[in-house]
Amino acid sequence: MSPMTYHRPTTLGQAKELSQTLENAVFMSGGHTLLPAMKQDLATPDHVIDLSHIGELDAIRVDSNDLIIGAMSTHVQVATSTIVQELIPALAGLAGSIGDRQVRQRGTIGGSVANNDPAADYPSAVLGLGGTIITNLREIRADDFFVGLFETALEPFEIIIAIRFPTPLSAGYAKFKSPAARYPQAGVFIARFEGSVRVAVTGAGQSGVYRLVQLEKNLLESFVDDAAANLEISTENLIEDMYATKDYRANLVKTMTHHALTHMGTISIFK
Ligand SMILES: Cc1cc2nc3c(=O)[nH]c(=O)nc-3n(C[C@H](O)[C@H](O)[C@H](O)COP(=O)(O)OP(=O)(O)OC[C@H]3O[C@@H](n4cnc5c(N)ncnc54)[C@H](O)[C@@H]3O)c2cc1C
Repeated sequence: MSPMTYHRPTTLGQAKELSQTLENAVFMSGGHTLLPAMKQDLATPDHVIDLSHIGELDAIRVDSNDLIIGAMSTHVQVATSTIVQELIPALAGLAGSIGDRQVRQRGTIGGSVANNDPAADYPSAVLGLGGTIITNLREIRADDFFVGLFETALEPFEIIIAIRFPTPLSAGYAKFKSPAARYPQAGVFIARFEGSVRVAVTGAGQSGVYRLVQLEKNLLESFVDDAAANLEISTENLIEDMYATKDYRANLVKTMTHHALTHMGTISIFK
């Protein structure tokens, strides 16, 4: 690992000031992606600004009918929050299914969303629920936030403060885990609202998380368990790697869609 200087601000203002005055600086939440990247010299920041000592960034609360989850909330905090369990049980289940115990103790929702790994679980929930990313500068709709592979609409040194989720009538998540990495090879999050349905896929798309717009329209017309039966999944932009061909992944997306639909209100995990 290359040498760097560690900074520990206690307010958002301090974090912003540090990021604007220091050269080649990076934010750190739990460090679960950042530190392995630094150990392999894939990331070589001169300054690391640790966000974990800024108060209130891990609060989970309800505002009107929306669920607001602070960016520093760890996966275990989201999974065990009674508020999340009551309002969006599939989201609590998704958080509790990420990685292993150590990962869930350190990894954060803000870090996961900022990183936008194409196989990460959270982006499917944020896009599938039509969430809003609240930063120190503005609010960004999920549809505008996930730009591409490991790419988001965040400006340099913009800090995610929280994610806002509208409460759905019901939501479901199903994923097929990679046996080695445990990240989903395909994960499908479905959310049903009064007057709309949203479906988001993670783990499968070359540009990261994406929506199944045609299925959303079909489900809005008729929300039936077997809506995935005749679903055509285009292989054009799917990932092909040592774990799965494009055709295999397309079939996984279809199968996970079926499981999410038939288990709304909960999550289904396959490995
Ligand atoms: C062994 C292992 C297994 C894993 N398995 C899974 C899995 O199955 N599913 C899954 O979804 N994930 C998985 N993860 C990812 C993990 O859950 C974390 O969500 C992810 O690594 C991000 O970690 P972090 O929150 O510590 O962010 P960090 O590593 O601290 O930061 C990640 C990136 O986001 C930026 N960043 C962090 N916080 C903010 C913020 N508030 N505002 C702006 N930018 C920010 C950082 O600058 C950095 O670029 C796994 C990780 C490991 C190490």
